[in-house]
Amino acid sequence: MKTKLASTPYDWLDRSLDSIHKANWHRSTQTITSKAGTIAKVNGREMLMFASNNYLGLAGDRRLIEAAIAATEKYGTGTTGSRLVTGHLALHEELELAIADLKNTEAALVFSSGYLANLGTISAIVGQRDLIVGDAYNHSCLKKGAVMSGAMAIDYQHGSLADLSAKLQAHRSKYRRCLITTDSVFSMDGDLAPLREIMNLAATYDCMVLVDEAHGTGVFGDRGGGVTNALGLGADLIQVGTLSKALGSLGGYVAGSAKLIDYLRNRAATWIYTTGLSPADTGAAIAAIEIVKSESSLRQQLWQNVAMVKQGLQALGIPAIAFDSPIVAIEVGDIATTMAQSQYLRDRGIFAPAIRPPTVPTARIRITLMATHTPSQIQTLLQYLGLAEQEAKPKR
Ligand code: PMP
Repeated sequence: MKTKLASTPYDWLDRSLDSIHKANWHRSTQTITSKAGTIAKVNGREMLMFASNNYLGLAGDRRLIEAAIAATEKYGTGTTGSRLVTGHLALHEELELAIADLKNTEAALVFSSGYLANLGTISAIVGQRDLIVGDAYNHSCLKKGAVMSGAMAIDYQHGSLADLSAKLQAHRSKYRRCLITTDSVFSMDGDLAPLREIMNLAATYDCMVLVDEAHGTGVFGDRGGGVTNALGLGADLIQVGTLSKALGSLGGYVAGSAKLIDYLRNRAATWIYTTGLSPADTGAAIAAIEIVKSESSLRQQLWQNVAMVKQGLQALGIPAIAFDSPIVAIEVGDIATTMAQSQYLRDRGIFAPAIRPPTVPTARIRITLMATHTPSQIQTLLQYLGLAEQEAKPKR
């Protein structure tokens, strides 16, 4: 006779997974078996890639691949320890100097990812007696960093200087330090933060400002220094970013004053207690920064592609949230319509995912453009977006 197995401390996993499935929220991975580029082999099928953060096409660039190989040949595959013990390479110093030069700051520090850079920096510079006021649409790592810091964290309405000002007016005086946090380019909407005005409010209310340039670095500014550089901002800022998007590698960074960087080396737990960035990632990032600084033609090509998509969508009468960056969030209708159109595109070999609430307030097809997309690839995208409007039938 079969006896019923006793319950285990992990039974809750079944219940939680069930509820994720019931809410239609279960996510799964898509397996890629090709080199990063505009065409990707996804689950065995070739697709036109309109969802990658590889804005300049550098993740598949021969020069980065060779730099990663050369760094690996010289230093090996792993760094063997934390930066403060055995994992600090001359190559890291070279990368940090290159980032400081790119961002026009005194110094920089590289972390294992952009996520860890934000967690470590925010939790090191503010604590329980302090206030964080952040844009409601900030990336998850800014929000989790705020929780980790123990500071009082308040959101202001997305992009609203009036609300930011009101929140500072109401709360600033009750706290020791104050930190304003914002993405420079918002990852799900593709619009830009009003950084100059935020800096003015920060000066009025004696606040530090941390700006996440994950989607700005390499894409904005004459040398690819980001939105901050394009606006001529830098000195009073804490700039965080990633090496994994336009720079085509992996890792994160903080750029700012020499004092800030020295302090973070002593206080940022996500930098101190983790292994130094791998030689391959470090070498590739150095090569990428060199390319980004010197080859403005890549950025020109990217912006031409953004302009082509803008023109095409406007001609089709399809609304997008913004055309301020290579992230174009297309609002085609309610959740069911958005899902149906994204599936329609997928069935025709176009990878352009639907993003829906609660991740974002309104459903959208999120497209990301690359410098290496050809005009004919963009034409194909526009053609199918037009057809999807007429032919994709939502399940009701
Ligand atoms: N900030 C923003 C705005 C991002 O979009 C991302 C990545 N999705 C990150 C930070 C995290 O960067 P990384 O992937 O290097 O951890």
